Amino acid sequence: FHAISREAANLKEVDLDAYKDIWVFAEQRDGRLMNVSKELLGEGRRLAEAMGGDTKVYAVLMGDAVENLVQTCAAYGADGVYLAEETHLSHYTTDGYAKVFTEMIEGYKPEIVLYGATHIGRDLAPRVAARLNTGLTADCTRLDVSVAAYKAYAEKYTTLDTSTLDATSQDRTLLQTRPAFGGNLMATIVCPKTRPQMATVRPGVMQQCEKDMTRKASVIRIEPALCETDIRTEVIEVVKQAKAMVSLSDAEIIVSGGRGLGTEEGFKLMETFAAKVGGTVGASRAAVDAGWIDHVHQVGQTGTTVKPKVYFACGISGAIQHLAGMQDSDLVIAINRDPEAPIFEVADFSIVGDLYKIIPQLIESWDDI
Ligand code: FAD
Repeated sequence: FHAISREAANLKEVDLDAYKDIWVFAEQRDGRLMNVSKELLGEGRRLAEAMGGDTKVYAVLMGDAVENLVQTCAAYGADGVYLAEETHLSHYTTDGYAKVFTEMIEGYKPEIVLYGATHIGRDLAPRVAARLNTGLTADCTRLDVSVAAYKAYAEKYTTLDTSTLDATSQDRTLLQTRPAFGGNLMATIVCPKTRPQMATVRPGVMQQCEKDMTRKASVIRIEPALCETDIRTEVIEVVKQAKAMVSLSDAEIIVSGGRGLGTEEGFKLMETFAAKVGGTVGASRAAVDAGWIDHVHQVGQTGTTVKPKVYFACGISGAIQHLAGMQDSDLVIAINRDPEAPIFEVADFSIVGDLYKIIPQLIESWDDI
């Protein structure tokens, strides 16, 4: 599937040559840089190399007293950091962040801007895109730069006619690929006439660079012009719920349960198993929809994309939307009583049988494994 939004939305054409470099929205929570931002800095480096020339990767760090994260951004691949510190930015607000970020983009004209497809990234990016009158591709799982790269990809994986991508396409075109129509098709979207080219990217799909604390980044300080009236919301209190502690995208071992568990009680077994192996509990959408477990545990296209070292799929059939969120795990161990279950096609180890017999045995003998 191939979408080119050339004439889309009557967007105003801009001088493409005025734009350069790659920006990554460096999302932080409680003084920690989010993993997805580290992944995007790594992806930014890869794209910068493909674009050649002196394309640089910048992290955009916003908040109150966040300068201590400059070194982390450098360690994960930023050549430079735009640092916007202001008390009004201490908590994320749509108005405050969108205003400051939009003004920075208008001033410095980046060619590409990447955001994590987190709650904040999904809120911020479309606001900024609308204010700048440019395009945005949401929830990307693959990025390529240049028409040549895309043609090579298309020749390998699709029967796509690439003749529509003619010489008028810019060499620095960002090919933004995302699942569409329930994950049954991959749509590649380009933004040929406006800048910046902007995408939100799913956590867990891009590679971080090797962390190097000796790397240095230049710092460009921004003095945000924000006042009370710019922000229509007030953060009175931040209440952290226990469920916010579930961090599937960072987990090294995930124990996921599906409809095959049969009841909500089945997740008690998942918790015991997870505690034994030092893992985090995940779930299929069927289990979430049944009300057995909260949505924050959902793995898949409409849940979290994960890439753990070990993924246990227990009583999960392996629907394409579930696979979309876990098939890049290093090792997949599937337990299912149906030997024909599609999950076995992506599994490294397949255990055919009743999970209620197999998992207690695994728990009992785990220390000997
Ligand atoms: P089922 O498909 O019902 O599979 C249950 C499995 O358990 C079966 O294979 C069965 O053999 C096995 N089983 C039963 N009893 C036992 C037992 N005692 N021991 C061992 N095995 C047993 N799904 C997701 O997971 N994540 C998503 O993000 C997601 N997004 C979606 C987005 C869209 C737009 C759509 C249309 C669907 C989405 N889905 C998603 C739903 C997806 O299509 C499947 O319906 C869902 O993944 C099925 O969940 P399941 O494997 O737990 O259930």
